[in-house]
Amino acid sequence: MKFNELHLNDYLIKAVQRCGYTTPTPIQQQCIPFILAGHDILGLAQTGTGKTAAFILPTIQHLMAHPGKQIKALVIAPTRELAEQINDFTQTIIKHSRLQSLAVYGGVSKAAQIAKIRRGVDIVIACPGRLLDICNDKAIDLSQVDVLILDEADHMFDKGFLPDIRRIIRLLPVKRQNLVFSATMPDEIKQLAENILVNPKTVQL
Ligand code: AMP
Repeated sequence: MKFNELHLNDYLIKAVQRCGYTTPTPIQQQCIPFILAGHDILGLAQTGTGKTAAFILPTIQHLMAHPGKQIKALVIAPTRELAEQINDFTQTIIKHSRLQSLAVYGGVSKAAQIAKIRRGVDIVIACPGRLLDICNDKAIDLSQVDVLILDEADHMFDKGFLPDIRRIIRLLPVKRQNLVFSATMPDEIKQLAENILVNPKTVQL
């Protein structure tokens, strides 16, 4: 299986080639066509499986087809390190496009993050606390989000972030695509997934 069999556009095929990826990993092979077709996803996958590219590449393809400098994709991650890692990969992929991404997390200047949001971003990759803080400041508009991604959902539960995540979700449009990734499936995550996902495809490695 090659990347060009997954219905990704030419820009993205070239971008993954620049990353040195030749063959999609199993989770990429399974997820990318479902996500491009607009399905919700419950992905049971650990870090190291290539799950970042599995959700970011088709999300970027959607954004390239619907440009507009509004936040159309929101990724929520439990740690700054993970948010940075996802944003680094996203920036590598979108480097030669008109899309902009931003990582949002605490411990660094909120004003700088808000200034970048004002200038226009397409993809926000956020930790829940700082994102809610910026929402409370009314400095971010999440009303145009088409795709919501929760990464490492089990760690969000461990860190007590589920109430924050529910608050953030209330700020999103009801009609959207939802992608939830978790390495384990405790009851709390099963319940969260049932509440968020609509007719999801389950992808398990
Ligand atoms: P992730 O599970 O998303 O954290 O990715 C784990 C590592 O695999 C990262 O260093 C990626 O750059 C790398 N990776 C992801 N997809 C591929 C691929 N199709 N071919 C080679 N390496 C990949």
